[in-house]
Amino acid sequence: MKKQTDILIVGQGLAGTWLHYFCTKVGLDAVIINQHHEQVASHISSGIINPITGRHLVKTWLCDTLLPFAKVSYKELEQLLGGSFVTRPLFTWQLQSSAKINQFEGRSATEGYSHFIDRIHDTPFGKGLQPAKMWAEVKGGLQINVADLLFAYRNHLTASEQYIEQAFQYQDLRMLEDGVEWKGIQAKKIIFCEGAQALDNPYFQQLPFRPGKGDRFIIHAPELDTETKIIKGNCFLVPLGEDRYWVGSTLEQGQGTLAGPDPAHAEILKERLATIINVPYTIVHHGAGIRPASKYRRPMIGLHTEHQQIGIFNGLGTKGASLAPYFAAQFMAHMQFGTPLHPAVNIANMTP
Ligand SMILES: Cc1cc2nc3c(=O)[nH]c(=O)nc-3n(C[C@H](O)[C@H](O)[C@H](O)COP(=O)(O)OP(=O)(O)OC[C@H]3O[C@@H](n4cnc5c(N)ncnc54)[C@H](O)[C@@H]3O)c2cc1C
Repeated sequence: MKKQTDILIVGQGLAGTWLHYFCTKVGLDAVIINQHHEQVASHISSGIINPITGRHLVKTWLCDTLLPFAKVSYKELEQLLGGSFVTRPLFTWQLQSSAKINQFEGRSATEGYSHFIDRIHDTPFGKGLQPAKMWAEVKGGLQINVADLLFAYRNHLTASEQYIEQAFQYQDLRMLEDGVEWKGIQAKKIIFCEGAQALDNPYFQQLPFRPGKGDRFIIHAPELDTETKIIKGNCFLVPLGEDRYWVGSTLEQGQGTLAGPDPAHAEILKERLATIINVPYTIVHHGAGIRPASKYRRPMIGLHTEHQQIGIFNGLGTKGASLAPYFAAQFMAHMQFGTPLHPAVNIANMTP
């Protein structure tokens, strides 16, 4: 194992993976310390990048910047890893109220939105879906197979001695004048990409963490066919192939650092799913993860005020798939070239 590196990264979820990618892209040496866990946000996530969201059908924050950047970046990663992890599905919204239909019709005529809305129609499609008054088809989004992508990246790191499978303990970190040392490895910087587990990080206790636990199912439904579309009703239904679908998710704010599936949330998911499909299914897997969200609902990025050799890349919340590539590149440029961070994500501007 190496004795020296430029950057130690703790955590190999979406944050740590993308930060590692952009650091090594500019020639830095970087090693990830990670304890693999199935029940963390990145592995549980459906990897959806949806351009239009929320009750008010607005474009997601920085959508016009993040989405094109994500498209290029995930393609680069696919090329590096020699795999296919990205699809470009239609997001089909199940519209059950006149208000929602009006909202979509308004949006389809609004500048900046119209190119995302493919069509609004009442034509039944697929098999096993509950009827809807209308359907709205949104294009331009992505769906990332995050678990497989992270697994492939981990293999890539392992093959080049850039990955250590281990639980990082804060007491093992030693501060040097111009860097850090951890278990005999010296680095110029250490960046924490621990997701919700950062709540225990003694260096960043003042940050406004607001974690949110989420449960999801993987179901097997052989009589269901969404024609490869992602269905958005009371929850998301994401086709995974071989009659399997991702179903989620729920939200429970203020949950701790490690999540387990919750039977009460299973009932919520079943109720929501019943409003979307009307065919039998079996639950293949019920999992949960904690979204590392912040009070400001923005990423939390930057270097420690006293110890500039320590940094954090966190707060990806509900949108890690789109936020991680863009802000990992920005954080790398900040550390390497002094480029300013976006003020909304800079931890220097945040209060608890
Ligand atoms: C149910 C659900 C659905 C979601 N759906 C979407 C979606 O469709 N689209 C989207 O964009 N986002 C979605 N998200 C949010 C997204 O998953 C997160 O924003 C993102 O995964 C956070 O990534 P992260 O790397 O910051 O944290 P994590 O995924 O939590 O990764 C942190 C990693 O660090 C490791 N780690 C932590 N501490 C240590 C330590 N001390 N030592 C060693 N290793 C450590 C953990 O084991 C883990 O591997 C969803 C989240 C949930 C829960």
